[in-house]
Amino acid sequence: MKILDGKIASQAIKDELRIDVAQLSAEGKKIPHLAAVLVGNNGASETYVAAKVKACEEVGFISTLIRFEESISEAKLLTKINELNNDPDVDGILVQLPLPKHISDEEVINTIDPDKDVDGFHPVNIGRLMQGLSTYIPATPYGIMLLLEHYKIETAGKHAVVIGRSNIVGRPMSVLLSSNTNPGNCTVTICHSKTKNLNDYCLQADIIIAALGKPEFVKADMVKEGTVIVDVGITRVPDNTRKSGFKLKGDVAFEEVAPKCSWITPVPGGVGPMTIAALMKNTYNSCITKN
Ligand code: NAP
Repeated sequence: MKILDGKIASQAIKDELRIDVAQLSAEGKKIPHLAAVLVGNNGASETYVAAKVKACEEVGFISTLIRFEESISEAKLLTKINELNNDPDVDGILVQLPLPKHISDEEVINTIDPDKDVDGFHPVNIGRLMQGLSTYIPATPYGIMLLLEHYKIETAGKHAVVIGRSNIVGRPMSVLLSSNTNPGNCTVTICHSKTKNLNDYCLQADIIIAALGKPEFVKADMVKEGTVIVDVGITRVPDNTRKSGFKLKGDVAFEEVAPKCSWITPVPGGVGPMTIAALMKNTYNSCITKN
């Protein structure tokens, strides 16, 4: 069993980006600028946004963190997004989800200029992805594709089972893996909460992408020998022995599943850092269209 190490692969991507940004700077060109919007003070969201801002610093991007109280109205938030849409210096806009219940995720996503939608959630970008056109690929599935590419995982002709069909992970993941690309060219089965006999599908899989948000859901008896496993899940599970009071758990029971795998991602240190690297790549790509 080998580890698909997201820390190593994301560092390689960030190192390349840092060189590219230094080159832009040396040529007097525009430097990528990511604007991150955080509403409220959800602990996990705070951590994710802080990691994204830190990554911007590492690669030499400009970043702006815009914070709002939990009580901000949807109208005020949309006004801010429109300001960022119209700011020529801003290349990428990221609104950290989830948003408070009184704000519609859909309304917010649809308000972001598709050309600055570096999370790749806007329907225009999802539509472009479906058609195989150049687009901002949603950061988590893009990060997983970059991880498979980094470790030269053979995917063509393989059977991939994606567990989860969310708009931000499972569904775009299934499109990417079934695309005529490398990585890609998989035969994909997408499973969800209404799937019957999910274990049988998993046992037929050469590649499993677990993105359901249920800690340690994928057990050893669901996996055949030699499977490649990408664990997207991140759940905070209470743990009194830790200062933070929690530990992070993936959707795969790592200890029992890993010995059966050819490759597996750890949690943390797998998909999480790759999501951030993919976001950086999308932001860079947005910037260079303006240079
Ligand atoms: P989500 O929107 O809640 O979607 C979960 C999906 O899993 C749904 O399609 C659901 O099916 C399916 N599902 C739930 N229970 C299931 C079961 N028992 N069997 C089969 N399918 C089941 O979650 P998400 O946003 O895609 O995120 C999934 C996980 O990935 C979460 O733990 C999240 O924290 C993590 N995540 C990690 C990153 C990262 O950077 N590492 C990024 C994004 C998300 P239905 O559609 O039928 O309800």
